[in-house]
Amino acid sequence: MQRIKKGDTVQVITGNEIGARGEVEKILVDWYVDRDNRRVRRNPDGDKLVVRGVNIRKKHQRPISQTRTQTGIIEREAPVHISNVMLVCPNCDEASRVGFRIEGDKKLRFCKRCGTPIDKVS
Ligand SMILES: [Zn+2]
Repeated sequence: MQRIKKGDTVQVITGNEIGARGEVEKILVDWYVDRDNRRVRRNPDGDKLVVRGVNIRKKHQRPISQTRTQTGIIEREAPVHISNVMLVCPNCDEASRVGFRIEGDKKLRFCKRCGTPIDKVS
């Protein structure tokens, strides 16, 4: 199960943007080919995240056709690797490790710092 989901707030823990926080906008799932079992598997540790306001790259986009509407200098978030960010607990507002707990028939994520569930019990 994924430790970080879309819509979560994460904090950067390494690199030159250390400490920056933002909301996860997109998860780029890492797939790899398992040749022995002849199938494609997902590798949760290889996922990358697009985090709002984090790792902004400037792209110089030349106008090449009428269909390309965004031209000039475009600022876009580049993906960051999942191991470079930590989930920010909504309860204690700290970057914290995520644990899993079975509640009924559901697997819930919880903050290892304060013990509060991150996902709402519905
Ligand atoms: Zn917490």
